[in-house]
Amino acid sequence: METKEFKAESKRLLDLMINSIYTHKEIFLRELISNASDAIDKLYYHSLSGEVSGLSRDDFSINIALDKENRTITITDNGCGMTKDELEANLGTIAKSGSLDFKQTQEKNDDIDIIGQFGVGFYSAFMVSDCVTVTSRAFGSDEAWQWQSHGAEGYTLEPAQMEGHGTRIVLSLKESSEEENYDEFLQDYRITGLVKQYSDYIRYPIRMAVERSRIKEGTGTEDKPAEYETYTEVETLNSMVPIWRKQKSEVTDEDYNNFYKEKFFDYEDPLKVIRTSTEGAATYDALLFIPSRAPLNYYSKDYEKGLQLYASGVLIMQRCADLLPDCFSFVRGLVDSQDLSLNISREMLQHDRQLKVIAGRLEKKIKSELLSMLKNDRETYDKFFKAFGLQLKYGLYSGYGQNKELLQDLVLFYSSSEKKLVSLEEYVSRMKEDQKYIYYVCGESVNRIDHLPQIELLKDKGYEVLYLTDEIDEFALKMLYTYADKEFRSASDSDLGLETEEEKEEAKKQAEENKPLLDFLKDSLEGKVSAVRLSQKLKSHPVCLSSDGPLSIEMEKVLNSLPAAEEKVKAERVLEINAGHPVFGKLQALYADPSKQDRVKAYAGLLYNQALLIEGLPIEDPVAFSNSICELMQE
Ligand code: ADP
Ligand code: MG
Repeated sequence: METKEFKAESKRLLDLMINSIYTHKEIFLRELISNASDAIDKLYYHSLSGEVSGLSRDDFSINIALDKENRTITITDNGCGMTKDELEANLGTIAKSGSLDFKQTQEKNDDIDIIGQFGVGFYSAFMVSDCVTVTSRAFGSDEAWQWQSHGAEGYTLEPAQMEGHGTRIVLSLKESSEEENYDEFLQDYRITGLVKQYSDYIRYPIRMAVERSRIKEGTGTEDKPAEYETYTEVETLNSMVPIWRKQKSEVTDEDYNNFYKEKFFDYEDPLKVIRTSTEGAATYDALLFIPSRAPLNYYSKDYEKGLQLYASGVLIMQRCADLLPDCFSFVRGLVDSQDLSLNISREMLQHDRQLKVIAGRLEKKIKSELLSMLKNDRETYDKFFKAFGLQLKYGLYSGYGQNKELLQDLVLFYSSSEKKLVSLEEYVSRMKEDQKYIYYVCGESVNRIDHLPQIELLKDKGYEVLYLTDEIDEFALKMLYTYADKEFRSASDSDLGLETEEEKEEAKKQAEENKPLLDFLKDSLEGKVSAVRLSQKLKSHPVCLSSDGPLSIEMEKVLNSLPAAEEKVKAERVLEINAGHPVFGKLQALYADPSKQDRVKAYAGLLYNQALLIEGLPIEDPVAFSNSICELMQE
């Protein structure tokens, strides 16, 4: 059987190429510069291997010239150039990559850092041009050839004149229309910006004559006002050597800080610079920064996390989200890797496996850097935590326990005894011998929590209590469930595990004795609480609220304040009464007298409302509450 070759419908293929592969038209410049850089690399490689001589690295450059009048952009390189055959093969065949061939036919090809591989980048020129003219002279040849194409119609090839080896590409820009502006590519600043953005780390100088203005000589003195004149100057647009590839000893802290501020538009120095590189399963260099403050939109939906992704020094993605877990979304920076398998537009990766490996390593690295900051530079860590602690706590919660290992050592809470933020590790190291739980209590502010009756006894016993003031806090701890095998326990929980067996027996007896009164109080409250109990944790206050079951009163508050909360949730409230308080004696006395039961009922309401107020919850009927107090005052 005869096998026939596929015939490509090249017109349609070219059309597809031009219009469907790339998201941004501006990418054409990146592609042509990358080709020029590859062409120089090839020649340089030959000179290194001794095949050609008389070349010096300093002689190589890529030049860009803008001609506003004729609306052309010219990109010239003094690389290897192309022969007539090569022009035909490389530019006349879509998806033919001379660069890939080159790499594959060289020995030791792992060392060659050539960018091209798909054989399509060149055609991106047609996204912005009506006509592309390529003049090229191969190194060592004395003839030059000109390749010209208006796009889908095919191309012409004819002899040409050219001094020296290399390639010159002239793009005749399309006419601008209402939807598309091509003239912007004739502006110095636009081209300068694109080179900075995508091709800053091309290893050869990319030069362009840039228009500048200066004060005319002899003017700007006391008797002559300043006059300005424009002049042009050839400038190198790219920085060539990326800061993350420089020797560590060559780069100062200030260099990193400046790089960060310029690249990520911050006016403050970062709190921490993390530079890391690895070889092996994934070879990469990463330069990460922890900003010193959260951007304004950080805690909103607008904020996009991600790191810049470079392949061999060429920017591939501005924000690659997969490189960072959500809990570390505040980290800015970049990753540069040579062995990424890119998709054809070089805007994405083919496999996310490599990304996963890199992301996993970066996650570990960020965690260990933060931990060492916590241990060795507490002041900076406190600053960090102030800016991004909330995100870590959200991370604990939203991971459903998955992020426990990653985050549990990084979160801080205010401590009743230390009067500052402490880590869970520090808390546990100070726990008393007989202390069963890690105690916490929720409230609006440290100040308010400090006065809550629930924690009186805990403090009295010398137990440290964590004050949770952010809405997410308790949810995050619920996800953690334990730290170092110690369970968390809310001070508002009805059982704090403080009593001895004897005390428990005693309490039980006391509760039984007072059962009729307690039941009466509960009934008087008409379903507002699920129980009224004698408290084991109050000392000087008469009442407090606590809760049974998994939902705490604080969580109820938070959940019901969410905009999405349609059905209101309700914690199982328990009114706790201090049996040692004179008020309780008064209740007992009144209850014993059948004619005074109405008073007991009214007092039940008063005590419940007091508990609500202490808890920071609204009372249902403030007018009735105030009336009851007035009645009481008149007794
Ligand atoms: P790729 O760069 O992925 O190989 P391109 O479509 O960008 O694909 O380019 C196709 C081929 O044309 C390149 O592989 C290279 O052989 C050749 N080429 C393109 N531009 C130049 C240039 N400036 N100098 C020499 N050869 C070039
Ligand atoms: Mg290319």
